[in-house]
Amino acid sequence: MMSRSPGEISGREFPLADLLNPEAYPLAGRSAERPKTLIELEGASIGDGGFTVIAGPCAVESYEQFAEMAGLLVKHGLKLMRGGAFKPRTSPYSFDGLHQEGLDIIARVKGETGVLSVTELMSTEDIDAVVPVADIVQVGSRNMQNFPLLRAVGGIGKPVLLKRGFGNTLRELLLAAEHIMKAGNPRVILCERGIRTFDPSQRNTLDLMAVPILQSVTHLPVILDPSHSVGTPRFIPAAVRAALALGADGVIVEVHPHPEKALSDGAQSLSPGCFSAMMEDITALANALGRSIG
Ligand code: PEP
Ligand code: MN
Repeated sequence: MMSRSPGEISGREFPLADLLNPEAYPLAGRSAERPKTLIELEGASIGDGGFTVIAGPCAVESYEQFAEMAGLLVKHGLKLMRGGAFKPRTSPYSFDGLHQEGLDIIARVKGETGVLSVTELMSTEDIDAVVPVADIVQVGSRNMQNFPLLRAVGGIGKPVLLKRGFGNTLRELLLAAEHIMKAGNPRVILCERGIRTFDPSQRNTLDLMAVPILQSVTHLPVILDPSHSVGTPRFIPAAVRAALALGADGVIVEVHPHPEKALSDGAQSLSPGCFSAMMEDITALANALGRSIG
């Protein structure tokens, strides 16, 4: 059998130096015919040149918490709320989500406010429960190379927010997206959420250059997660400003109505006051850049 080079994809070979060549990604690679993918939802879009702010708690904790957060989004004219009902947790003793009860809360709050949901699917076992409720299905960092899960979300007919593995290269992220697309789902959003490095001053080192590099290679929208990377509210607004200025298609940021009471990731969650101040700040920058926030 002939040996295969590390750069061989779809039977074609690419030198290692060319791994960020769009042609290495038959479906995700950008081209003159396909410069940009637009993800359109009811009243929200990602990839249209605007800056999409997805905000919300790490986890759905109660109806009251989720409804209060939805009120804050509506106040800011935002439409996409994050919140996990199934949470990947490092410790098996940590709160890992409300599961079906959390999905019911997401559906109820959507019915009452019109706010759309971004929620995580951790396992193929939960597809039938999660997919009908989610407007965007999140595949988390730890699952970026869970190939059965990637193939499964290829068949769900809803957009997928694919987060970069904390130990994965941009090439691996692009090829994970390629798995989803090859399985039939063209609506993939890429998310840089920090990679593990030697420096504990951030929870994970935010790789800002992922934005221009990915955008040069792929037509898929690229967003940043400043929360799981930077890991502290103090510097999150700076990361969001950077995302906007770099031309990212948006951000996904953790905000909790009462961060001190959060059952997961409270220490990195913005309070409503900090979130509102940040929104005001980035609106001024967006205006200067000629970009709309939605
Ligand atoms: C999350 O979004 O809450 C999360 C767990 O993110 P990540 O998969 O990037 O760690
Ligand atoms: Mn979180």
